[in-house]
Amino acid sequence: MPSASVDPSVSRDPIPLDAEDLATVCVLCSHNCGLRVDVAAGRIAKVRADERNPITHGYVCNKGFSIARYVEHDERVEHPLRRRPDGTFERISWDVAIAEIAGKLGRIRDEHGGRAFALVGIGGQGNHMDGPYGLGWLRGLGSKRWFNALAQEKTQHPLIQGWMFGSSPATFFHVDQPRVKYLLVMGTNPRISNRGHNANEFFKEYAEDPERTMVVADPRETETTRAADRHLRVRPGSDVYLLLGMAAAIVQNGWEDAEFVAGRTEGFDAVREALAAVDPAAMAARCDVPARDLLDTAREFAEADGAGFFFDLGVEQNRFSTLISYLIHLITVLTGNAGRKGGAIFMETIAPPVVDPDRVSEPERALASGIPAIRALGNAGMFSPSLFPEEVLIDHPERIRAVVVEGSNPLLSFSDAARWREALAALDLVVVVDPAMTETARLADYVLPTPTGYEKWEMAIFPKGWPEVSVQVRPPVVPGPPEALPEPEIYARLVEALGPFGEPPEALFELGETATTDPGAAMRWLATAREKAAEAGENAMIFWAYRTIGPHLPAPSLAGVWAQCQLNGLMRRESVVRELGPAFADENPFALGNEIFRRILEHPEGVAIARADEDDPLGPHLGHPDGKVRLAPEAVLPEIGRALDAPPGDDDAWPFVLAAGLRTRWTANTIQRDPKWRKGRGPHCTLNLSPEDAARLGVEDGDAVRLETSRGAAELPATLDPKLRPGHVWVPNGFGMIHSSPEGDVAVDGVNLNELTDTADRDPFTGIPHHRYVPCRVTAAGR
Ligand code: SF4
Repeated sequence: MPSASVDPSVSRDPIPLDAEDLATVCVLCSHNCGLRVDVAAGRIAKVRADERNPITHGYVCNKGFSIARYVEHDERVEHPLRRRPDGTFERISWDVAIAEIAGKLGRIRDEHGGRAFALVGIGGQGNHMDGPYGLGWLRGLGSKRWFNALAQEKTQHPLIQGWMFGSSPATFFHVDQPRVKYLLVMGTNPRISNRGHNANEFFKEYAEDPERTMVVADPRETETTRAADRHLRVRPGSDVYLLLGMAAAIVQNGWEDAEFVAGRTEGFDAVREALAAVDPAAMAARCDVPARDLLDTAREFAEADGAGFFFDLGVEQNRFSTLISYLIHLITVLTGNAGRKGGAIFMETIAPPVVDPDRVSEPERALASGIPAIRALGNAGMFSPSLFPEEVLIDHPERIRAVVVEGSNPLLSFSDAARWREALAALDLVVVVDPAMTETARLADYVLPTPTGYEKWEMAIFPKGWPEVSVQVRPPVVPGPPEALPEPEIYARLVEALGPFGEPPEALFELGETATTDPGAAMRWLATAREKAAEAGENAMIFWAYRTIGPHLPAPSLAGVWAQCQLNGLMRRESVVRELGPAFADENPFALGNEIFRRILEHPEGVAIARADEDDPLGPHLGHPDGKVRLAPEAVLPEIGRALDAPPGDDDAWPFVLAAGLRTRWTANTIQRDPKWRKGRGPHCTLNLSPEDAARLGVEDGDAVRLETSRGAAELPATLDPKLRPGHVWVPNGFGMIHSSPEGDVAVDGVNLNELTDTADRDPFTGIPHHRYVPCRVTAAGR
């Protein structure tokens, strides 16, 4: 069978060029549906849903069939590139690239210290193998300045959960989808966005079940609201008042679960006091929904036999998003639905849910705003990308001076592209690691090619399911460009060139030969590495594992997965044994770690490695010394007053509210670069507005309109959308990408909405931008 030999950092074995029924995933959204692909002549030829995937069970949406377009397009980077003084790029060797970048990093470190470095990115949608290596590189150099896309969406939740539950940031508090009876959906249209588990299928079945109730709060009429038992057609930006009204109604009417509140929580009096001044009817008026509907929703939620919230960016990237998160958690706890089957449970990932004893220590903070790095998906803290430009442009001796951008395209994905361009131009060094020549890569000093998530070993760490904890690690299915190197190899080469950890201790090489199969060798490897890392720095261990265990694995990057498996054996023993079965009850932690590693490699379609305690879904996650939930975290209560003082008002200067970047059936963030992947009827990048607004502006379907914000303006075609409230407009995400044809023609597909957003328009606790509430003006173009 023909095969392609690849760099050993990609795969020790050659990659077959013709093969059938290979297990992989779709990386176009965080759902990571299991797929099976057939490969012909080294290219993805056929794609189908994977019925054998234990997580998604054959679920797929239209986008999954287009993954070959993510692999093959005209913007692939195939060689290390260096910018010339005239802005063009020249091909260089890996040795030259690593030596020059390491030399520049070393000089910056010597002059300004390690904090001068930042890492922007880590992981595309389902490409997370780089995580421990990227963070190990950054921390090994002495910096914790990590900016990640999750922190422009969801870090308010682990922040609130830490305050209220003392829970591990590695958990994901989520509605127990299969068992919930009463669902309040906010800020999402999962029938289209695929938010949640097998969303389209789930919401269809849920709506048909007479035993279950769904209320949807959404300014728009959507595929999801149409099937709802009640549609609360809230005014854009007023979700916080709906939740304030509901929380006040529950407390003022005594609808809380008194037994749960008395036994498992503290701070109820402070909550009652804070909500005393909140009038549910006045809150309903702010939302523009009937007061009766708000009160009924609050009462029904409290009385339901298992209720939960289902929410996404519409409330997460909106006004008062941290307060919104708090109120969602508060209502869930007050009604006895926290840590309850059919309510909300703590989903877990391969990272064991350990509460870092350091969690109460002062976090790393941004220099300009003081906003903290927030721990999410694990114990490493991440900053909102909205904070990055000012951390570069600030006049401060510890400002950021060099950045590695990896698995991320800030110029399109993060607020305020103009401010990002200004910041990148002010840096001493910009290195982009990416499979594609992105808009950000075009501004870099060096561009380093890496394989896509189908051309190297990869994994997705997003939480999937409950009580099982499932993991999917997948081998490459097609070869990538011969010079593309996986991110772990790039970080390892940079670390070795800079030398913060030195050579791996000699003993680790011999132990590494059998560490993944012999529990005794695993134990001795970890003990020796830990002892030596006490001098070299704890981040040395991941790179030592890469160089000493990695060569004995199908790809060296898998050493990071092995290390995670060992942490599972050591720190999540009971859950692991629950999944593996009683035969493993007496095994030592290293045997457990090696066993789940073996199962992961044996099951590229995914496999469960641990199982949460179904009899006690709450207790193990309560980390405060008294084991009680804090209902009234001090920091967040004053936010109630700020929200009450700032109703969404009519602003004559900016009379419209833009929901910037909604998902459609034909958007995939900025992953799919070639517009040819869209087979739906176009145009795709249009401004959607209500027929009432269109009539007032004298605009018809397809006419050009001008969209203007405080940061910029763009022209695009109009689509009349009768499902919108007047004053509310939206544009899909994932546009504004440069693409070129084989003939060398360069074009831009649609509008980059982040030319119109503002880094300053953000939540004060997290820095999460208000992309779903962008004040704007819309006019007919050319008038
Ligand atoms: S884009 Fe569609 S197929 Fe791909 S992971 Fe998301 S829901 Fe699944």
